[in-house]
Amino acid sequence: MEQQSPQQSDAEKRRVIIRTVGLKKSYIMKGVVTEALRGVEVEIVTGEFISVMGPSGSGKSTFFNMIGALDSPTVGRVFIDEVDVAQLTAEELAYLRCHNIGYIFQSYNLIKYMTALENVTTPMAFGGVMPDEARERGMELLDIVGLKDRWHHRPIEMSGGQQQRVAIARSLANQPSVLLCDEPTANLDLKTGQEILEILQRLN
Ligand code: ADP
Ligand code: MG
Repeated sequence: MEQQSPQQSDAEKRRVIIRTVGLKKSYIMKGVVTEALRGVEVEIVTGEFISVMGPSGSGKSTFFNMIGALDSPTVGRVFIDEVDVAQLTAEELAYLRCHNIGYIFQSYNLIKYMTALENVTTPMAFGGVMPDEARERGMELLDIVGLKDRWHHRPIEMSGGQQQRVAIARSLANQPSVLLCDEPTANLDLKTGQEILEILQRLN
């Protein structure tokens, strides 16, 4: 039979977007070795929504930094969209971080003196998007997170939940294939945290 069901073709379209092989990371500080990751093997396909859970100090942020190509492993490999991150030049790495991955942090990491819109459009400028188009796309993204009316507000004029929503819009600036979040709700109250998770699930 040549014909495929819709499910089958959907499944075929899914591809492994993050893969780690024997991932280990040790830190050495004042002669003390901390094994933060001891051989992590994961395979994540497009469309998946995954939580990594564990107590403080269990290695979540270390893992985030490895699969986000922000730091390199002590041993093992990280493949993003089947590209071995260790083989990339500094320039290719910068391109990957700018275009393929969106990052969201616990403390929002917005730029204080910029408006919500400017925060969202800054990665687009690095991505080579022209200012008019960046503004238009920035407003669309702020609309998606429910903050269109606040485009001109600076971080200090927004609540934690609103700041994190700006950070979500910013993380999507260059249409990444992967969105990485490091404790995105840890600084928020329960209800606001749930709203943030709902936005992330909707976007996925
Ligand atoms: P989590 O995000 O789950 O709280 P981390 O990945 O931040 O955990 O930390 C894992 C372990 O590695 C902890 O014991 C931490 O102290 C240690 N660690 C993390 N980053 C560094 C670093 N830059 N230098 C030395 N030790 C570190
Ligand atoms: Mg952490």
